[in-house]
Amino acid sequence: MSAKVGFSLPLPRRRLPILGVAVDDVTEDEALVQIAALLASGGIHQICTVNPEFVVEAGRNPAFAHVLAHASLCTPDGVGLLLAARYLGYPLRGRVTGVELTRRLAGLAAQGGHRLFLLGAAPGVAEDAAAVLRREHPSLLIAGCYAGSPAPRHEPFLRQLIRATQPAILLVAYGHPQQDLWIARNQALLGVPIALGVGGTFDYIAGRVPRAPRWLRRIGLEWLYRLVRQPRRLPRIIDAVPRFAWQVVRNRGTEEQDRRTEEQRNK
Ligand code: UDP
Repeated sequence: MSAKVGFSLPLPRRRLPILGVAVDDVTEDEALVQIAALLASGGIHQICTVNPEFVVEAGRNPAFAHVLAHASLCTPDGVGLLLAARYLGYPLRGRVTGVELTRRLAGLAAQGGHRLFLLGAAPGVAEDAAAVLRREHPSLLIAGCYAGSPAPRHEPFLRQLIRATQPAILLVAYGHPQQDLWIARNQALLGVPIALGVGGTFDYIAGRVPRAPRWLRRIGLEWLYRLVRQPRRLPRIIDAVPRFAWQVVRNRGTEEQDRRTEEQRNK
C-alpha cells in the first residue's frame, strides 16, 4: 500500500516512552503519511530514526535527549524497541527502518517534486545511493550529494552548499548522535523543511554493506549478523542489546508512570 500525500496538517500522534525517549507508534505507511503532512504544513521538521542505541545514548547525553524530545517524528527502528515496548505492556505496531523509510521517502519526493539532498557517508557513497534511488524512482530530483564531515568547523561551508541547492528533504548519514545534533544546529539556518538522520542507510542502499538476511532481521538477530561482519561494532552492540535490555528491566516501574503521563498528554 502506498501512502497518500496532501494532508494539510500533521496527524495526531501516539508516543510511547521508552527509558524517557518518546517513540512514535507508527507503521511505515503512517510515517510516510505523517511526513507528507509535515511537508504540506510548512515549517521546519526534524525526524529521528530511533533504535536502542539512541535510547541508551540519550540517557548519558542530555543534548541528544533534548533533540529527540523535540523531533517532529521519532520512528521506531530496531527490533529491540519493539520487544521492550511489548515487555512494558504497550506494544508498538511496527518497525520503521532508516533504509525502508529512505526508499519510501524517495518515492514520496519523486511523486511530489520535492528535491532530496544526501549528506554524509564516505566519499562517493551518497552519489551511489542517489543513483539507486533514481533507478527506483526515475522522476526523483536529487538536489545534491556530499560526504563532508560532521565537525562543527565544516558547518558554514556545508550550509552554503546545501542552501544553494534548496532541497525540501535532507538526509544526513553521520551516525547518531552526530547526525541528529548536526541537524538540530543547522536545519533552521538552512531552511530545509524536512531533515532526518539516517545512519548507515547510504552504505546499505549503495550496496557497500550487505544487510542481514530478512529472516534474521525478522527474528531480531540483525545485531548478531553485524557483530560477525563488523566486530569493531562490539561496544555499540553492548549498548544496543544487553545494556538496553537491562535498563528496560530495571526501570519498568518508572516507565509505567511515564506512559500514563504521556497518555494524558496524547488525549
Ligand atoms: N559517517 C561519516 N562521517 C563521520 C562518521 C560517520 O560520514 O564522521 C558515516 C559513515 O560513513 C556511515 C554512517 O555515518 O555511513 C554511520 O553508519 P553506522 O552504521 O555507524 O550508523 P548507524 O546506522 O548504526 O547509526
